[in-house]
Amino acid sequence: MHCPICKDIKLKDTLLYNINVDYCPKCLGVWFDRDELRQAKDEKDENLDWLDIDLWSNQKDFKVSYGIRLCPSCRIPTYEVYYGDSKIVVDVCKACHGVWLDRAEFKKIVEWLKEKADYEVMNNYSKNLFKEFSEIFTGPDPLRDEILDLITILKLFSYKFGGKRPLLSSFLLTLPK
Ligand SMILES: [Zn+2]
Ligand SMILES: [Zn+2]
Repeated sequence: MHCPICKDIKLKDTLLYNINVDYCPKCLGVWFDRDELRQAKDEKDENLDWLDIDLWSNQKDFKVSYGIRLCPSCRIPTYEVYYGDSKIVVDVCKACHGVWLDRAEFKKIVEWLKEKADYEVMNNYSKNLFKEFSEIFTGPDPLRDEILDLITILKLFSYKFGGKRPLLSSFLLTLPK
């Protein structure tokens, strides 16, 4: 698979929280494969209650437009999905439901979470995760610095995609062909 931004750069995979994540070694964007996220859904994690906030909870707040990037897996154009006033843009593939996040984008998501969620709770939660998983992280150092953000996003995505509240997931099914 090639990076949708750098095009001629091949994505590398790394193990993050027991899930394979593909990242671009040049721009550090990250590709989340839907099936990979689904693998995480059975895991019980009651600490995820802090995610049950007003996040992506209104279907009418989703906006979508045609993107210019190609899905690294299917090689077809992705959709750009926006949510409300969050200024977050996520590239989603209609066919495989994979999600591409620019490096800047996952930082924005985390910032937005910090604004909306109980920061204390989220922070403690992330810290524990960080302790647990930073040692086994096999990716490159620049990503290691952002592993906390990445893990948070990963948890969010696996929760929102495959878990109890698959709203983003069901929204994807309504995307125009
Ligand atoms: Zn790239
Ligand atoms: Zn795809």
